[in-house]
Amino acid sequence: MGAAAKASVAQALDELVPMLTRLQLTAIRDQLDSLLDQAARAELNLREALAMLCAAEVARKNERRIQMGLSIAKFPCVRTLEGFEYDAQPSVDPKQVRELAISRWVANGDSLLLLGPPGVGKTHLAVALGREAIVRGYSTLFVPATGLVTALARAHAEGRLEEKLLHYSKPKLLVVDELGYLPFEPNAAHLFFQLVSRRYERGSMLVTSNRSVSEWGGVFGDAVVATAILDRLMHHSHVITIRGDSYRLRTKRRAGLVHQASADLATKTD
Ligand code: ADP
Ligand code: MG
Repeated sequence: MGAAAKASVAQALDELVPMLTRLQLTAIRDQLDSLLDQAARAELNLREALAMLCAAEVARKNERRIQMGLSIAKFPCVRTLEGFEYDAQPSVDPKQVRELAISRWVANGDSLLLLGPPGVGKTHLAVALGREAIVRGYSTLFVPATGLVTALARAHAEGRLEEKLLHYSKPKLLVVDELGYLPFEPNAAHLFFQLVSRRYERGSMLVTSNRSVSEWGGVFGDAVVATAILDRLMHHSHVITIRGDSYRLRTKRRAGLVHQASADLATKTD
């Protein structure tokens, strides 16, 4: 290497960290010494070392994107599919859930209804599947049904309905939790219908409800609007109906059993 070439390499080396910053390769920048050590120890050639550095950067960027997506989604709690016990809820088919986790239904703009009584894991699965969608790159927003209709009704009263509808239409997946716990005001059903129409065949909706679909007329207080909503939601849809006991009560009962067993033991040893 000539003297001039050496000088320019030396200059580039001095500038390495600022250049990494400018290129926004922050993972490589922050872990530079340890990554280079690792490459040297593994005796990687230049191409292999470059691949390793890129992999570190891509992993960091992915992690950031997921964290950002999760914070935008406003999930009420942290729930994952790994944390879901299928043994506790035999009416849920693990294969169907694993298939849904791939999020093709979100890519296709399909709907997913999670139906069942309180405490059976509807919100858990909704949050976990929302998380899977984010991991796969789909923007997601979680909103409780009551919060959603309140926000739409307020926006309507303030002449900002269009803006609100746009807000709830933008995410690729909208999770509406706990539809049917409270009946809708007559006007709210119409507002909800407008949102469903707006999203229809563009974005996915995941709706959880403690009411069976046949009871939705009562929930919306208007059979015609309920039919129109269901017509759109059910067109390309997946339905999981969860039967069985509340997970919360089940855990409590178990605790009771444990209590009983230790009491039995105590009397035996007396
Ligand atoms: P729902 O929305 O159907 O009323 P949740 O999803 O809120 O019920 O479940 C109640 C609690 O029980 C949550 O903390 C949830 O994480 C937990 N839970 C429910 N079902 C399961 C399950 N099969 N495995 C693990 N945790 C569960
Ligand atoms: Mg719930």
